[in-house]
Amino acid sequence: MTRQSIVSNSESKQNNSSSTILSHKPPPIPGKYISLPLCDRQLLKDLDINSSTCWVDSMRASSPTHLKSTPSLGLLEQPSALDMFEQIIKASKGKQIVMFLDYDGTLSPIVEDPDRAFMSDAMRRTVRKLGRYFPTAIVSGRCRDKVYNFVKLTELYYAGSHGMDIKGPAKGSKHVKKSQAVLFQPASEFLPMIDEVYKTLLDKTKTILGAKVEHNKFCLSVHFRCVDEKKWNELSHEVRSVVKEYPKLKLTQGRKVFEIRPTIKWDKGKALEFLLESLGLANCTDVFPVYIGDDRTDEDAFKVLRDRGQGFGILVSKIAKETNASYYLQEPSEVMNFLQRLVKWRRVSLRRQFRL
Ligand SMILES: [Mg+2]
Repeated sequence: MTRQSIVSNSESKQNNSSSTILSHKPPPIPGKYISLPLCDRQLLKDLDINSSTCWVDSMRASSPTHLKSTPSLGLLEQPSALDMFEQIIKASKGKQIVMFLDYDGTLSPIVEDPDRAFMSDAMRRTVRKLGRYFPTAIVSGRCRDKVYNFVKLTELYYAGSHGMDIKGPAKGSKHVKKSQAVLFQPASEFLPMIDEVYKTLLDKTKTILGAKVEHNKFCLSVHFRCVDEKKWNELSHEVRSVVKEYPKLKLTQGRKVFEIRPTIKWDKGKALEFLLESLGLANCTDVFPVYIGDDRTDEDAFKVLRDRGQGFGILVSKIAKETNASYYLQEPSEVMNFLQRLVKWRRVSLRRQFRL
């Protein structure tokens, strides 16, 4: 897939008058992070299709029923984005805040049935307000249409399939002009292969109670959440044996889910960079991207921000994890609280500007 498939803001690059090397560094991370055991650290990389060691332990570690044995963030005095709100606002002074939000586990609670991962009306109202004040993108591993059907806000950017399916606002966003429609699908050539693997996985997993294969257009998810732990190894074996036959696909692990996606160098971090470019902000020194997500796949975006020295990532988690994010929020309700404070701060500061 080439850039020819991109229908994007062709003027964005021309508008980027500044190419100054970015000097702003993300806020320092107070407190200490707990390093994961070697086993879990290895899982931060792509899974080895031939090896089934470690992953079951990691899956268990992410289960709420096993959280009791893990120290809580509060006990470790980790920096909460809510506690550090004033410092965050200070760091963003004079800069354009751009918001990137994961969906599952960030805007919606993690639920047994992924088809029922609805966001609350209050969260939707909050995200709608957020989109009025800041360019806002939803970045998800889900199929773009599916995540849009959950969020239902036309004025936002959507990056589905781990950023492999990006579309700009349909209407109503003041952050984008009509001529700046964005559509980017770097993995289109993989569609027939993904369809084929989907059918094979459906067949191979049909006897495992609770296993759910989800078609996310450019990638697939195999959910373990409703499968008896005793059957996890069997399910893992089936998934690995299928994916092994497709060297152009890779297997990664999320929260009780296996992700199968093309080996192309494209992830949520690349999607973030692409969206900044589409907004004409890629080379600006005065941009302040904030990415909020709960999953290991969100680490790619956290790392991009850390490497760029711009903005910061916020990990949604109740347990300490090794991460490139700078702050934590414990659950979606805290995410909503943080977003509401951001909206309120922006509203008040705009009013103040108008008065002057
Ligand atoms: Mg998530």
